[in-house]
Amino acid sequence: MAQTFFRSGLGRLVLALMLVAVAPALLLLAHLGGESRRDAEQRAALHQQQEAAAAVRLFEEMLASVGRTLEVGVTDAAEWADGAVCAPRAAKLAAAHPFILRLVVVAEDGRVLCTSEGVPTAAVNLGDRPVVRRALRSGGPVIGSPVVSRLSGEVVLPIAVAIPRPPGTGRADRPAVLSASLDLPWLARIVRTMDGDEDLDPFALIVGGNGRVLAAAPAIPDLPPADRPSDHPLVTTVLSAPVGWARVADFAGRDRLVGFAHTHSTGLAIAVAADREAVVRPIEREFLIVLGLMAAAAAAGLGLALAVARVRIGRPLLALVGAAEAVRDGAPLPPLADLPTVGEIATLRRAFAQMADEIARREKRLAEANRELAAMNEELSRLAERDALTGLANRRAFDAALAAAWNRARREGLPVALLILDIDHFKQFNDRYGHLEGDACLTRVAAALAGLKLRPYDLVARLGGEEFAVLLPDIDLAGAVAVGERIRAALHDLMLLHEGSPYGIVTASIGAASLVPIGPADPRVLLAAADRALYAAKRGGRDQVSAAGYAAAA
Ligand code: GH3
Ligand code: MG
Ligand code: MG
Repeated sequence: MAQTFFRSGLGRLVLALMLVAVAPALLLLAHLGGESRRDAEQRAALHQQQEAAAAVRLFEEMLASVGRTLEVGVTDAAEWADGAVCAPRAAKLAAAHPFILRLVVVAEDGRVLCTSEGVPTAAVNLGDRPVVRRALRSGGPVIGSPVVSRLSGEVVLPIAVAIPRPPGTGRADRPAVLSASLDLPWLARIVRTMDGDEDLDPFALIVGGNGRVLAAAPAIPDLPPADRPSDHPLVTTVLSAPVGWARVADFAGRDRLVGFAHTHSTGLAIAVAADREAVVRPIEREFLIVLGLMAAAAAAGLGLALAVARVRIGRPLLALVGAAEAVRDGAPLPPLADLPTVGEIATLRRAFAQMADEIARREKRLAEANRELAAMNEELSRLAERDALTGLANRRAFDAALAAAWNRARREGLPVALLILDIDHFKQFNDRYGHLEGDACLTRVAAALAGLKLRPYDLVARLGGEEFAVLLPDIDLAGAVAVGERIRAALHDLMLLHEGSPYGIVTASIGAASLVPIGPADPRVLLAAADRALYAAKRGGRDQVSAAGYAAAA
């Protein structure tokens, strides 16, 4: 039933309408999904920008606190001059601040006296470093540009403070500058973990004002070399404005949402980036869940609508189709009680019931008409075997009865007898009394013949005109002559006035014959014999029975 409904034109129409109704909602949902993904991207990127600004503030505070640490450290110049104390003291001071990678004590002539990592084996001279020279001039903490360390080869950010010169000393090997190399990779690592959301796979980057990539966290192998500027899109984006955000690929080619901000004191830029895929993944998951829920709701709605359509429209229509087929096939009408009682289906059902009633009424009338027709046909065929004037069997019926009696007599070896009767001087009767009276006379003679008490299978017929026949199966000639005599007597009893006849009343001549059918002989033999006997009766003077044809036929 369900299958039939969904394959029906109506079922398909309902399905199509439902899909048309659901489609705009799905389109709207897809649009909103795209919007919310863009929103999420933008929010995440702005958040990265705020993180970058926070990182810049952190960096500036770190610089200030390192500066203060160094200023405290330079107070006792004499100790820095003690070769045995210099290195351990530098190490202790360096350990006091996590941003400090290394502390270097530089002499007046630029030579390195000691470092926090010990006394350098090879003589390294930092006298030409701008940061050292500026520190010697100005005293207070001086921040340099990022440089490649002559001690380790790493890129470091130097910050230097002059060691106060004791009065009266001017030796070239006296400790003159305390220089700290700042650990940019450490800063990058701190910045990277600031937000704390590992799911977004954060990435921190420190870029020099000239486009050199100074540090990154996590440290990745694809990082451009730190000693020359990079024109990677990520780098150029970070340098494109003092602060901002963008969607750009990182060095490994991953899609990133990047926020960046420039420092005030050093010209460095700090960028923090989130993995774009990781940002939009929850949104997409959420969207897919909403989409799934909506699809489920739509499917449920669709199913409900189809079920309702099936029950309220499809099933009633199919029931009506079944009823129509029953009416067509003449089968009993199935009950339509569980169809709706209001609405179009109800109207259809009423119209259908009226139509079925009307068909039943017409069928009843047709059956009645058919019965009448059958009766009429019966009457017609009866009439076809009857003579219209006298009501006796006509010539046709006589011929058939004669043939049947003849065949039966032949089978059983019995005789069959025939009387032929012709009214005498009937022409004169008509001439004298008129044709209508003639007809009345024929009717009376016929009634007299019919009134003879014959056996059920004897037959009285009007052969035509004023000629009659009596078929008498299983009767010999003597019996037939006897019946003929009874007929003659009956006519006499009628006493029908016939002034044109020598007898004064209506009489008849009767020829009798009786034969046992033998061989190929057919009933005409019997007819001919009776006819000859009739003429013999006429010739013999009329009003008599003759059997004169018998010998000739036998
Ligand atoms: P016969 O004694 O030799 O039989 O003389 P008939 O006058 O009876 O014989 P004929 O054959 O010369 O005439 C028969 C007449 O019967 C002629 C016709 O007018 C009349 N007749 C035949 N059929 C009908 C009929 O249906 N109605 C009437 N009124 N007369 C008929
Ligand atoms: Mg005649
Ligand atoms: Mg006659």
